[in-house]
Amino acid sequence: MPHALIIGGSLGGLISAALLRQSGWRVTIFERSAGDLAGRGAGLGISEDLLDVLRRVDAHIDPSTGVVIDRYAWVDAAGTTKWDIERPSFASVWPRIYQPLRALVPDESYRAGMNLERVRQDADSVTAIFSDGTQVKGDLLVAADGNASTVRRQFLPEVEPRYAGYVAWRGIVEERDMSRAAQAMIFGRIVYSFPDGELMLTMPSPGVGEDTRPGFRRCYFIWYRPAPAETKLRELFTDATGRHHGQAIPPPLIRLQFIEEIRQSAHAIFAPALAEIVNLAAQPLLQAITDMESPRLTFGRIALVGDSAFIARPHVAAGVTKAALDAQCLADSLAAANNNVVAALEAYHTKQHDFGSKLVAHSRYLGAGLENNPGAPPVARDPIRIILDYGAPHLLRPVDVTRVRPPA
Ligand SMILES: Cc1cc2nc3c(=O)[nH]c(=O)nc-3n(C[C@H](O)[C@H](O)[C@H](O)COP(=O)(O)OP(=O)(O)OC[C@H]3O[C@@H](n4cnc5c(N)ncnc54)[C@H](O)[C@@H]3O)c2cc1C
Repeated sequence: MPHALIIGGSLGGLISAALLRQSGWRVTIFERSAGDLAGRGAGLGISEDLLDVLRRVDAHIDPSTGVVIDRYAWVDAAGTTKWDIERPSFASVWPRIYQPLRALVPDESYRAGMNLERVRQDADSVTAIFSDGTQVKGDLLVAADGNASTVRRQFLPEVEPRYAGYVAWRGIVEERDMSRAAQAMIFGRIVYSFPDGELMLTMPSPGVGEDTRPGFRRCYFIWYRPAPAETKLRELFTDATGRHHGQAIPPPLIRLQFIEEIRQSAHAIFAPALAEIVNLAAQPLLQAITDMESPRLTFGRIALVGDSAFIARPHVAAGVTKAALDAQCLADSLAAANNNVVAALEAYHTKQHDFGSKLVAHSRYLGAGLENNPGAPPVARDPIRIILDYGAPHLLRPVDVTRVRPPA
């Protein structure tokens, strides 16, 4: 039985493992984190393409996996709905997708606390070398080790995530803490707001214990703001002791003055109900928006899947779907090539490189109006066009909500 070594035990690694096991591979996942990943993560965009792959591997999915959202709306600073459209979609949370996938992989095939250091290969095999000195040999290595991929850095050291010129503030608020006006504005729809050069959207999501009942849900917001790399970005990611955290600051270390700044700005530029949401978020999260495109996805017996190969900006909401489609294409290419790994990986590269490039390009188009690009003329933004193109409706199928809507 051929053996696949999978680096990274997040969603890309788990889906790869489930699919390869179905086609007769022995798999071992090696995950750097020693703890349970289920406790992390927030709102997640779901597509029908992702649900198809989850159904294919028999991951347990039912209406409680997420909440159905019926409409998309554009709301101005006065709180007036300028435009809205019926467009059913489905939003979930990270643990609700992670847990059923994790349940598909037996514990003996999931080795936590294993940090890959490098990879070696010859004509017949590939060997993963870990920080504790362990070496494991296999027939295929799947690099599902995320956007800072150790494997990609070994083979493509020049390819790194590139800062897009803006940051995202995110937060989660309990439905029961919100005013009636805010609840009425937010639940049942995705609300977009377009202050000058910025963008905020709110999205309903399941509540504690993944509860999807009215009154027990949550609202998730994401607010994009320009931040020049050398000035504002640097300040935002520097804590109160003066320590700079690159582009990933632990939320409790974000300086209070910046949290106060977004709370004040929210009152100045958003409708009162949206400003309320920003002010209710006890611990906002901060993320520098980046993107990345790898020129190659495969190296002999090694395949990059998911975020290790491409990073699309969050506007396409496609991170998990892309990882699932990469994993599916890899498993299908191996089956079609009768497990001739090198030939299968060539076919995988050809198909998924094109798909990843298109997703990244679309995410750049959606974020172009937010980039801090000194000297460049501002990008004209048509809110209706942006809303219609949000996600990547030409690349990913929306969820068929008739299959996931709870019975009335
Ligand atoms: C804990 C967590 C929470 C997330 N929450 C959200 C969310 O709420 N919303 C959203 O849209 N997206 C979220 N993401 C990102 C989303 O999961 C990814 O876009 C999607 O899963 C595809 O990414 P991936 O599986 O390829 O990589 P990732 O999800 O980034 O996973 C990479 C995995 O590889 C492991 N790893 C990295 N380097 C090594 C190494 N050298 N050796 C061994 N293991 C290594 C990491 O610990 C990680 O578990 C989250 C990712 C993680 C890890």
